[in-house]
Amino acid sequence: IAQQLEHMEISPAGEDGQYFQPFGDGFSNVLALLPGDDPELAGEVIVVGAHFDHIGFGRKRDNAQIHPGADDNATGVAAVLELAEAFRHFAPPCRRSILFAFWDAEEKGLLGSKHWVNNPTVPLKSVVLALNFDMLGRLREDRLHLVGTRSGVGWRRLFVLHNPGDLSLVFSWSIHPPSDHLPFINAGIPAVMFHTGLHEDYHKPTDTADRINYAGMERIVRYAFFVVYDLASRDKLPPYRPEAKQEKAPEWPAEPVPRLGVRCQATKENGQWVEIVEVLPGSPAEQAGIRAQDRILRVDGREHPSWEDLLTAVSTAENEVSLVVQSQGQDDLRQMTVTLTGPPMPLGLILGRDEADPEAALVIGVIPASPAALAGIREGDRIWEVNGRPLGPDPTGTLPQLIKAERQANPHLSVIFSVEREGRILRIAIPDPSLN
Ligand SMILES: [Zn+2]
Repeated sequence: IAQQLEHMEISPAGEDGQYFQPFGDGFSNVLALLPGDDPELAGEVIVVGAHFDHIGFGRKRDNAQIHPGADDNATGVAAVLELAEAFRHFAPPCRRSILFAFWDAEEKGLLGSKHWVNNPTVPLKSVVLALNFDMLGRLREDRLHLVGTRSGVGWRRLFVLHNPGDLSLVFSWSIHPPSDHLPFINAGIPAVMFHTGLHEDYHKPTDTADRINYAGMERIVRYAFFVVYDLASRDKLPPYRPEAKQEKAPEWPAEPVPRLGVRCQATKENGQWVEIVEVLPGSPAEQAGIRAQDRILRVDGREHPSWEDLLTAVSTAENEVSLVVQSQGQDDLRQMTVTLTGPPMPLGLILGRDEADPEAALVIGVIPASPAALAGIREGDRIWEVNGRPLGPDPTGTLPQLIKAERQANPHLSVIFSVEREGRILRIAIPDPSLN
C-alpha cells in the first residue's frame, strides 16, 4: 500500500515523515495526505479510510485455512487506493485536505482507527469528517448501505444529492455494524461507512476474489468520488450530532390520532352512505350525538359519500367537518358541524420531523385510501419539495401551506412532490382531490 502511495506521489502522513504509524504488537496504520488548495479550508481534513487486515487462518485453529478476505476488506483498500489516485490527478484539486488511511487490526477490535484517534498524525480537531469503506464487493439489488449518516445534521441529503439514481441508498438509524467509523463518531466527528452488507462468506475461507461484484464496486467508488469531491470542496459542512450514538429505528407506521372517533366499514351501500359501526367513547363524534348504526348521508356537502370520502374529509380538514346524519329507522336528518381533534393530515399524510434530516417532511404514516396513499406515497418517504419549492427549516409546517398556495395558484392541476426514498429522488403527482 505504501509503495502504491509513493508511486502516486502522495505525501506520507504517518510518523517521522513515513507512511507508517506502528502500534501495539507489530501493527501499523498506513497514512498519506493530499493537501487542499484553499488557504481557508486546507486546514480541514476529510479522512478516507479502509482496514487492510483480515482474520488470517480464522478462529478455528484446528483446520487452519487461509481466509482471503477479498470482500472484507480488499475491496475497501482497492476503493481507497482508486480514490487516492483519482484525487491526485484530478484538477482542480479539492479545497480541503484528504487523509488516506489504511487501518490495521480492525478485526481485533478497531485497534488501528482507535489508535489513530488517540494518537492522531494531523490535529484531531482539524478532522471534519471520516469516511470508512468496508466490504464493497457484494452489491446486490443496487443496495449500498451508508452507516452513520445520522452522526451529522443534514448529511443524508448530501449523500443523496450525488446518487446518479441507480443506487438504492440504505440509511440506518444505528451506527452499527461496528467498523473504523465508530472511533471517529465516539470522538465527536461525523463519520459514515460505505458497505454492501453481510453474506454467507463473511469471515470464511470462501470470501474469495471470484465472488466480488466488480461492476458494482466500480459504480460505488465512482459515486464515492463525487461525494468526497463535493464534501471536500463545499463552503460549509454540517455539524456533528451526538444523538446518533444511541439511536434506534422508530416504530412505523404511526397510528393516526382519531380526529372524529368513528369506525365505519365498507358495505355494499358504500357510495350511497357511510354506515357507522362503532363510536369511540369521549370522541368528538360521541359528543356530537353520532351513534353506532347511524348513516352519514353527506360529508362537507358531498352527497352519497363513500367511507373513503369521509376519511379524506376528516383527515385533511383544518378544524371541522360538516355532516348530514340519519339514525336507523328514522326519517329526519340531522345537520351538524363537528370540531375535530388533532392536527390535519394533509392529503392523508401523518408527518414527523427528523432532527438529522431537518429540511424534509418525514412521512411516518399514510392513511389508507387517502390522496397520498393513492398517489403512492409510503411510510418512510421524505418530502423535499412541492412543485420545486423547498420546504425549508420547518418542513411539517410549510408543507400544507405550500400545497394550499399551489392549489390556489393552479386550481385542478396536480401538485408534484419531490420525495426522497432510499436515496433516490422521485417525482410524485398528487391530483386535485376536488376532481374525484
Ligand atoms: Zn471489515
